Amino acid sequence: MFLLLLCAGCRRPGRQGNHEWNGLVMGTYVTISVPATDADRLDQAVPEIKQALEAIEADLSIFRPDSEVSRINSNAGSWVEVSTQTAHLVQQSLEYARLSEGAFNPAVLPLIHAWGLHGAQAPPQWLNEATLAPLRELVDWRKLAVESNRVRLAAAGMQLDLGAIAKGYAVDLCYRMLHARSMTNIMVNLGGDLRCSGGTGRNPYWIVGVRNPFNRSQIIGRLLLSGGDAVSTSGNYERFIEIDGRRGAHIIDPRSGYPVEGMAGVTVLAADSLTADALSTALFVMEMQQGGNLVNSMDNCAALFVPDRQPLEIYLTPGMRERFVPEPAFAAAVRQL
Ligand code: AMP
Ligand code: MG
Repeated sequence: MFLLLLCAGCRRPGRQGNHEWNGLVMGTYVTISVPATDADRLDQAVPEIKQALEAIEADLSIFRPDSEVSRINSNAGSWVEVSTQTAHLVQQSLEYARLSEGAFNPAVLPLIHAWGLHGAQAPPQWLNEATLAPLRELVDWRKLAVESNRVRLAAAGMQLDLGAIAKGYAVDLCYRMLHARSMTNIMVNLGGDLRCSGGTGRNPYWIVGVRNPFNRSQIIGRLLLSGGDAVSTSGNYERFIEIDGRRGAHIIDPRSGYPVEGMAGVTVLAADSLTADALSTALFVMEMQQGGNLVNSMDNCAALFVPDRQPLEIYLTPGMRERFVPEPAFAAAVRQL
C-alpha cells in the first residue's frame, strides 16, 4: 500500500517516448500519457482532472455511504434528486440493459453481495435455486427509473451499481478535458479502460497489449490505437470468487443469478470509452455469437473473446480482425466469429 501511495499523483517519463501522470482514483490507477513536449500542459490540467475524478467517485461509489448511488439505494421506493452526471449514467446503463436484453444490469448489486463479491464474506457453498430465485426478482432493471434529475428504484431491497460503466465514463471525461486544453496526442488509462488519440512521441499511434487471461505476464496480441479509439476489457482473472474449488467471475449473469463461467476475457474496441466499458461487461455475460451480433450492429464497435477453456482460442468479430495483431505464438489460436 505504501508503494501505491508513493506512486499516487506522480509525474514520470513513460514508455513509447511519452510523459505520464499517475494517480489513484475510483479504487484503481489512472495513467495519462502525452508526448514529452506536452508535459507542462498535462501538469496544468492535472488539478482539474483530479477534481473531476473525485466528483465521479463522490457521486457513484457504492463504498461511500454519502454518495448519490448510496442515497438512491438507501431510499429504494422513493425518488432521489441526483446530479446531471449520475442521471446521465443511469439513463446510459438502462440503454445497455435494453440492448443486451438484461445481460448488462445496473441493478445487479444484491446478487453481487450474495456471492461475496465487493468485499463481503463469500458463501461457504455455491448458492442454490431457493436463495437465487428471490434475488433474481429483486434485480429487475425495468424497475429502475430516471426522469431529468431524479432516480428511483421501485422496490425495497433493490440496489444500483454503476461500476460496469463508471470508469469508461471517467476516461471520456478526462479525454475531453485534455482535448479542450489543446492536447491531441493522449492516452488515458483508468484501470484498463483506455482511450487514445494521435500518437506517442515516437509513433503516430499508441500500442496497447491484450493480456493473456491465463498468464497475466504475457500478451496475446496488440492493438494500434489512434483517432479517439477506446478499449475496455472485462476478465475473470483479476477479481473472482472461488467456492469449493470452482471459480466464478466478478461479473454476474443476472438472468441466472450465477457468476459467469465459461468466459475468460472480452475486449471491446469502440469510438468512446463508455461504450467500450458497458459492452465489455455485457458481452462477458452474453452467449458469444449473440454478443458478436450486438457489436456488429453498432457503429465502430468490435470485440475479441477468449473463452475459459483450453486450448486457448481467440475469437474476433470482423471489425477486430482488421485491428488486432496476434503475437506469433498465438496466431494459430485466432478464430473468426
Ligand atoms: P467491468 O469490470 O467493467 O466489467 O465491471 C464489473 C463490475 O460491474 C462488477 O464489479 C460489478 O460491480 C458490476 N457488475 C457485475 N455484473 C454485472 C452485470 N451483469 N451488469 C452490470 N454490472 C455488473
Ligand atoms: Mg465494464
